[in-house]
Amino acid sequence: SDVGSQKERVVTEEEWLQKWEMGNIGFHKEQGHPLLQKYLDVLLNGRSGSRIFFPLCGKAVEMKWLADMGHSVVGVEISEQAVKEFFSEHSLPYCEEPVPEILGAKMFQSTSGNISLYCCSIYDLSSSIVGKFDGVWDRGALVAVNPCDRQRYVSLMISLVEKNSSYLLVTVSYDPNKHKGPPFYVPESEIKSLFG
Ligand code: SAH
Repeated sequence: SDVGSQKERVVTEEEWLQKWEMGNIGFHKEQGHPLLQKYLDVLLNGRSGSRIFFPLCGKAVEMKWLADMGHSVVGVEISEQAVKEFFSEHSLPYCEEPVPEILGAKMFQSTSGNISLYCCSIYDLSSSIVGKFDGVWDRGALVAVNPCDRQRYVSLMISLVEKNSSYLLVTVSYDPNKHKGPPFYVPESEIKSLFG
């Protein structure tokens, strides 16, 4: 297929914030993703107390699910509204603090301590700030990243994972000439070249 039609497309941070404000969030699902259920063993790889990263997390309900199983969840999301809705919709008390390393960023942490959501751009993170992860749940993340930012995103993700980590990636397959995205069409060949 011709993916050229999406190459130049850019969705700005402002547009994402507007989607949240307008409630234009068709990507959010109330039910946990069936593929996470199916491949949970692969993600956890026998570990208990894993550190799991949710890039571009929105208010994904799977964060609560993994935290309830005793894992520690870290997410990053540009929309403060999304982060606050996550905690309120699950009736989770939280505290809010600045992130000294990132100007204007805030970190929202459940009082129980095992869910930490950074409210900033993912491109502001580094392993010196958030540490490294045993597992990644990438749904609506790589496919939401602007095509021009993919390499930067993947390089960052690689820098955030431990050696023996598991990375679950969900993509969508469709004709990119018929829909401008997001989600964007990321062909398997590109995934292979991006992640190496
Ligand atoms: N993964 C979530 C949300 C997918 S939609 C889910 O499965 O439901 C993509 C999300 O990324 C949106 O909530 C958007 O606000 C957020 N986002 C977009 N660009 C971002 C960036 N540069 N840094 C952090 N979050 C971003």
